[in-house]
Amino acid sequence: MENPYVLPPDLQSELTAHLATVAANRYPDAGATELKNALRHAMGIADEFEILLGNGSDEIIQIIAQSVAEPGATLLSVEPAFVMFRMIATFCGLNYAGVPLKPDFTLDLDSTLAAIETHKPAVIFLAYPNNPTGNLFDIEAVRRIVAAAPGLVVIDEAYFAFSSRSFLDELGEHSNAVLMRTVSKLGLAGLRLGLLIGRAEWIGEFEKVRLPYNLNVLTQAAATFALRHYDVLLEQAARIVKGRVGLASALGKTPGVWAHPSEANFILFRVRDAATTFEGLKSRGILIKNVSAAHPLLNNCLRVTVGTPEENAAFLAALQASL
Ligand code: PMP
Repeated sequence: MENPYVLPPDLQSELTAHLATVAANRYPDAGATELKNALRHAMGIADEFEILLGNGSDEIIQIIAQSVAEPGATLLSVEPAFVMFRMIATFCGLNYAGVPLKPDFTLDLDSTLAAIETHKPAVIFLAYPNNPTGNLFDIEAVRRIVAAAPGLVVIDEAYFAFSSRSFLDELGEHSNAVLMRTVSKLGLAGLRLGLLIGRAEWIGEFEKVRLPYNLNVLTQAAATFALRHYDVLLEQAARIVKGRVGLASALGKTPGVWAHPSEANFILFRVRDAATTFEGLKSRGILIKNVSAAHPLLNNCLRVTVGTPEENAAFLAALQASL
């Protein structure tokens, strides 16, 4: 789910020159003040919130899981969702509860509320939009889950740049919710930078667990630079959204393909025989993700990342020949 675009050549040269001045002999700024200010400005993060930075949002999931881990504590999410929620819960010694989504990948609110009642989770993770399904959950259902949760709810907006909605505007209304984002899907996956936005009471506790130099000097400098050109990143995201709309429409017209609506930079779709289609695409030089085995609800499902117009066209041509 990477962004296929790189920075324009003039910005690349400017960035290279800038990185040459970075003091690699010094430890990084443990508070990453400049970078946090750049993120705050670019993403419109209100002063009422603090920001915690991670080496990718993967690390933030780990920091949160480590912070709440104690015997008997549970991390709850829905399924299918981002696999790292379950994996990190397991590594950190937390119990994991996964509540199945409905077959159309919407939230099963009754089951989720019942699971919250049973497991009393220390933390709940909801990806908004969800991965690998691509859809946004009903916002009223999300609010009900936040209201019912006895602990923290993490709204994971890894795909916010491609989505028509964000939770950021209402974050201040929920005392037990925090919002996680990443710059990975914005064309900066290699820098490894994720952020957690929330009230000082929450962020301050997670800061105690974060290792002081988790963000190296080059990441801090490069990300600060890139965020000063946030318009360029957003313009790339807009191109990806345009590509997604075209791809979804082409998939919708392809017999034997059932594409699921997406607000992310990928599309989940079902075919008659995912293994055959996956291998057919691969033999034609197109590698996508076969998610069929990840969950029973994903039977015969594949997930394709939106690429450049040329990549999307190559994928569609290969798909026709692989169904
Ligand atoms: N959350 C979700 C929902 C994701 O899909 C991903 C990446 N696949 C991540 C978090 C992690 O992103 P990163 O570690 O690159 O910030």
